[in-house]
Amino acid sequence: MRLKNDTGALDPFRLIAAFLVIANHTSPLLSFGENADFILTRIIARTAVPFFLMVSGYFLYKYIKNGDNSYILAFCKKMALLYAFSIILFLPLNLYAGHYKGENWWITFIKDLFIDGTFYHLWYFPGLILGILIVRLCMRRLGLQLTFLLSIFLYLLGLFGDSYYGIATQITFIDTFYDGIFSITDYTRNGLFMVPIFLTMGMLIYQGRKSSSLKNNLLLFIVSFVLLVVEGLWLHAHSLQRHDSMYIMLVPTMYYLFLILLQLNGKSSKNLRNIATIMYIIHPWMIVVVRFTADLFKLEHLFIVNSFVHYLTVSVLSFVMAAFLSWGIKWRKQTPSPTGRAWIEIDLQALRENIEILRKLLPGNTKLMAVVKANAYGHGAVKVAKELNKNGINSFAVATLAEGIQLRKNRVKGEILVLGYTNPQDIRFLKRYRLTQTIIGLSYARELNKYGIGLDVQVKLDTGMHRLGVDASQLTELKRIYRCQHLKIKGIYSHLSVSDSLEPEDINSTNEQIAKYNQTIEWLQSQQLRIGRRHIQASYGLLNYPDLQYDYVRAGIALYGILSNNDEVVSKVELKPVLAIKARVAMVKHVPPGEFVSYGRTYETKEMMITAVVTIGYADGLPRNLNHGHVLIHGQKAPIIGRICMDQLIVDVTDLANVQTNDIVTIIGKDGSERITSEEVANKCGTITNELLSRLGSRLNYIYKNPFFH
Ligand SMILES: *Cc1c(COP(=O)(O)O)cnc(C)c1O
Repeated sequence: MRLKNDTGALDPFRLIAAFLVIANHTSPLLSFGENADFILTRIIARTAVPFFLMVSGYFLYKYIKNGDNSYILAFCKKMALLYAFSIILFLPLNLYAGHYKGENWWITFIKDLFIDGTFYHLWYFPGLILGILIVRLCMRRLGLQLTFLLSIFLYLLGLFGDSYYGIATQITFIDTFYDGIFSITDYTRNGLFMVPIFLTMGMLIYQGRKSSSLKNNLLLFIVSFVLLVVEGLWLHAHSLQRHDSMYIMLVPTMYYLFLILLQLNGKSSKNLRNIATIMYIIHPWMIVVVRFTADLFKLEHLFIVNSFVHYLTVSVLSFVMAAFLSWGIKWRKQTPSPTGRAWIEIDLQALRENIEILRKLLPGNTKLMAVVKANAYGHGAVKVAKELNKNGINSFAVATLAEGIQLRKNRVKGEILVLGYTNPQDIRFLKRYRLTQTIIGLSYARELNKYGIGLDVQVKLDTGMHRLGVDASQLTELKRIYRCQHLKIKGIYSHLSVSDSLEPEDINSTNEQIAKYNQTIEWLQSQQLRIGRRHIQASYGLLNYPDLQYDYVRAGIALYGILSNNDEVVSKVELKPVLAIKARVAMVKHVPPGEFVSYGRTYETKEMMITAVVTIGYADGLPRNLNHGHVLIHGQKAPIIGRICMDQLIVDVTDLANVQTNDIVTIIGKDGSERITSEEVANKCGTITNELLSRLGSRLNYIYKNPFFH
C-alpha cells in the first residue's frame, strides 16, 4: 500500500518523543522499582532520539538526492544556530556544575562543542550536523543503499562501545580500539556511529514511500519491541552496558514505528514541531527550576523524592513553557493576509503546461531559455525560475545584473544570461554569481577582457534591429572579439524586430535578419572559431517561425501563457494564462443621479447608481487610462467608472445582485464563466501585455497555486 504524501502522525509523535526524552533525564518510575525505571528510561525512551533523526532523514532525502547543497547547508546552519543558542542557555549550569575548570578546560570544551555537546542532551545538534555531512558525502559516491550498509557497519562499531561494551572489553585489540575512541569522545552515541543509520532509514522510507498493511507493521513492531526490551534487560542483567543508547533491536523497532506513524492519520503542525524542539532544548533547565523551587519551599518530599510527580512537574512545566514560546514565535511571524487588499495569483500548473506546449513546438535539439527579466514579467522571478528548474529548465535570461544576482542568491541553478549592459565597474559580480554577460560590441568586449578574470559571455549580433550588438557584417570586429583571451564565449545570438507580424514585408525583413545571422555564423565557423550556442527567436519567433533550428528559443511572454496582443500566429497553440490580478470591494455606495464620481468630475451619474470602491489603483500597476474597462464580481462584468485613483478605483455594480464589502474583484483572470485577459486589458490601455505586466507594482502580494510536488 502506498503511503500518503503527508506526514501522518509524525508531528504528534514528536511531542511524545519529547516527553520520553524528559523521562530519560528524570527517571519517573524510580520510586516504583529500578527495573521498571530501566525499562522505561533506558530502553523505551531510547526511541525518541532515533525518531527525531529519522524525521530529519525523511524530509532531507529529496534535497540530498537532488544535490541541493544550499538547502542542506541552510538546514545545518539552522541547527548550528539552535545549538549556539542552547550552549549559551546552558552556560550558567555548566559553570555552576564546575565544567570547564582547570588548565586544559578548553580541550574539554572543544571536544564537547564538536562531539559530545556542552550539556548532556545537546550532543544531538553536533551529532545531527556531522551525521548529515557524512550521509551527504557518501550518498554522492555510493548511493543510498550502500550508504545505508555503511551506516549499519558504523552502528555496529557504536554498539560495542555502548550497550555491548562488556563483550568488546574481553578482546584486547578491540578494547584498545575503544580506548582510543573514548579518549576523544565520551560515548559512541554520536554523529559518526549512531546518527547515519537512522538518517538513512528515514531516507529509505521516503524513497520507497510504500509499505505493507498497518496490521503487518503493527505486528512486526510489537515483535521487535518485545525483543528490544528483552535485549535491554539481558544486557543489563549481565552488566555489559557502558551506556544504553544503542541496541540491535532498536533498528527494526524504529523502522516499523516510523511506518506505522506515517500510516496513522494526523495533521502536520508547525506548532507541535516547535513545541517538541523547545521542550527538548529547555527541559534540563526546568529540572533545575523544579529542584530549586521544591528546595525553597521545603517540598522535596513531594516534588523530588516522588520520582513520578517530579517527572510530571518537569514535563508540564517544559510543555507550558514551550507552548508559550512557540506561541510567541508564531505571533512574531504572523503577517497580514496576502489576499486582504490586492494581489496576484500565479498558477504554477498553467506555467508547467505552457512549458510542455512550447516544448512540443520546438524542433528536436532546441531547448527553452526562460526569459525571467522584469520580475518574470510581473510573475515573481525567483518563484518562477525555481519552478522552472524543477521542470528541467536550466537556462535563463534576465535584463540586468541585479536580476541575475537575485536569482543566484535564491539558489536558481543553470546558466543565467544577462541580456543587457552591465557597467564594467561591476563585472566582478558577474564572476561571483556565475552569470553570463552579453557582449554588446567590440569596445565593450575589450573593456571586459582587460580585467583578465575569465568571464562567461555570449556575443550579441545586430542583424537589423539596431539596438545592442555587433553589426553582423563587421566581420573583422567580430573576429577581434573572439581573440579576447579572457572571454569564454559560450554562444552567439541575435534578436528579431518584427517576428510578431505576418505582413509580407515584415516576414521578408525577418527572413533577412535570419539570413544575416546564418551567414555570419557560417563565416565564423569557416574561421575555425568556436561559436557555442545559437539563438535568435523569442516567443513570436517560435510561434511564427517554428521550423528554425537553433540551440535555444528565448521564450518570455508565451511562457506566461499570453501573447503581446491579440495577434494571429502561425502555430495555433492553447497557452494557459498564468497570472490573475484580484482585489476587494472596500465599500458599496448608493449615488443619486446628477452626481460626479472620482477625481475631476469626469463621470456623471444618470440615474440612481450603486457603486463599489475597489482596493487597487495605478500605484499597483493598473494603467490610469483603463478607465473604460471593466472588472468581474460574482462572475459578472462591472464597468470601471470615473478616473482610476492611485490606490482605488470605482465600479458600477447597479446591475449586480448583492455586492458586499470584502467581495473579491477580478481585474485580470477568470471568475465563473467570465474571463478578462491580459491582452484585453493591454489593448484597452493602448499597450502590450509585456508592458502591462512588467509594470505591476511592488505593493501587490503574490499567491502561488499548484506548486510542483516531488
Ligand atoms: C525580452 C526579450 C526576449 C523575450 O521576448 P518575448 O517576446 O517576451 O518572448 C528575448 N530576447 C531578448 C533579447 C529580449 O530582450
